[in-house]
Amino acid sequence: MELRGKHLIGGRIAAEASTTFQAAVAATGEPLDPPYYEATAAEVDSALRGAESSFDALRGSAPEVRADLLDRIADQIVALGDALLERAHLETGLPLARLTAERGRAVNQMRLFAELLREGSWVEARIDRGQPERQPLPKPDVRRMLIPLGPIVVFGASNFPLAIGVVGTDTVCALAAGCPVVVKGHPAHPGTGEMLGTAVHSALEATGLPLESFSLLHGAGHELGLALVRHPVTRAVAFTGSLRGGRALYDAAAARPDPIPVYAEMGSTNPVFLLPGALEQRAEQIAEGYIGSVTMGVGQFCTNPGIVLGLEAPGLGRFLDAAGRLANATTPATMLHAGIQRTFDAGLERVARTKGVRTIGRSAEPAAGACQAASAVFATDPQTIEAEPHLKEELFGPASIVVQCRDVAEMVRYAESLEGQLTATLHGTEEDLRTYERLVRVLDRKVGRLVFNGFPTGIEVCAAMHHGGPYPATTDPHFTSIGTAAIHRFVRPVCYQGFPDAALPPELRNRNARRIWRLVDNQFTKEDA
Ligand code: NAP
Repeated sequence: MELRGKHLIGGRIAAEASTTFQAAVAATGEPLDPPYYEATAAEVDSALRGAESSFDALRGSAPEVRADLLDRIADQIVALGDALLERAHLETGLPLARLTAERGRAVNQMRLFAELLREGSWVEARIDRGQPERQPLPKPDVRRMLIPLGPIVVFGASNFPLAIGVVGTDTVCALAAGCPVVVKGHPAHPGTGEMLGTAVHSALEATGLPLESFSLLHGAGHELGLALVRHPVTRAVAFTGSLRGGRALYDAAAARPDPIPVYAEMGSTNPVFLLPGALEQRAEQIAEGYIGSVTMGVGQFCTNPGIVLGLEAPGLGRFLDAAGRLANATTPATMLHAGIQRTFDAGLERVARTKGVRTIGRSAEPAAGACQAASAVFATDPQTIEAEPHLKEELFGPASIVVQCRDVAEMVRYAESLEGQLTATLHGTEEDLRTYERLVRVLDRKVGRLVFNGFPTGIEVCAAMHHGGPYPATTDPHFTSIGTAAIHRFVRPVCYQGFPDAALPPELRNRNARRIWRLVDNQFTKEDA
């Protein structure tokens, strides 16, 4: 398809600004056509007013119609074919094989949410039937379910252009819930964003839902994002990116006259704990999985295992040798954009120069000026990491630090000092888990997901997934941004008391026409109430 470099505002293709920006080929830095117009304040207003005007029709649509919308978006994305993957490859540097797999994940997640809507129980209908004759006071008839919030602002992430981008998990959850969406595309891959946005518009047209339910705005500056967050009709915000960006948007939302939620997923160091039983049995095998996880996607995952804590036990030396060898054998690879590469390079050099840190493996250096990352594994001790707090910060790229602990008390102390994390991982035997139970209890207070004998990268998109965690991993530990529970970010409960049956939403009427699971007088049932 021909790219226009313009916004998609409701059904219109629009661009009124005089300023533009250009994406670049990630691998070479060469500018990529077309130039993209920066969204103006009037365009922000138009997109969000349109979203608000479409809300009643979207939330009032039958769940099957929204399920059909999601299936059609998936079909449209597949129909974009190789052109989508090739543009995404140019803009992000991600290999075509990875992008093909990511498109599969994006499309599967749309179909998963379509199934959720067709099944219908996600609205969590609860019915407490009234008892007018109850003594000493009558019991009122009380019924509660989840309803959509209203227009949602989504920030496309740089590192998953398809699965967490313009039509990634955030947009899909919001549309599924019945919320219109305005997306700020990531400025590093606007062409990919435009192709995806067009797919959403074609699907909206085909289902007869209002075109204003979805808009895509482009811009390469903080003002656009802040204007979207501050706009009075915005009801919630979804973001994946840096702590600095997420926190700025969260603060802007909190400073509104009517604060709104910002669900920001901002990353983590994802500590991995190596317990003696596992080290003794399979040190080399763990090292292989570890280096695969550190370098996967050039380390540009929020679940990248940035810190490993290994107990000084037989096997830790073998683990370090194998990890060093494997890191030496990796080759530099293209990063998502020059800003990420510069930050990574500076961070890597700072770690390498820190007194008390040794480099145990490092790939060949990238060619000078290339937007590429070298992979590296470092080793240090608990005292150094305590004295140099920058070592505990996320280094977004293929690098990781192994902390050699003399005893489990040092591991527990480290775990106690952790800020909120998306994940923590334990490698051990079942016996280790019993012996080091204290460590597990400390960790489950700090993280959103605990992994046993695996690695945190490669998140399964499913009903039980929790991709979240205490601050600063996210701004709200109650919610996940991956998996079907992510829909809860864009809904809230409402309770109807004493309403006549016919005036209730279909899910709360006595007749359970959709045969969904409901909690009726404290019993889960699909029967009528
Ligand atoms: P980013 O800088 O956080 O940007 C993400 C989005 O937020 C962009 O649309 C950006 O737009 C906007 N933004 C950033 N700071 C803002 C602010 N202060 N006010 C308003 N809007 C703001 O993320 P990135 O470009 O993807 O990569 C930079 C760093 O983010 C990486 O080095 C890494 O540390 C982290 N990151 C984390 C994850 C994760 O999964 N948690 C994923 C990707 C990146 P503008 O640039 O147009 O303002």
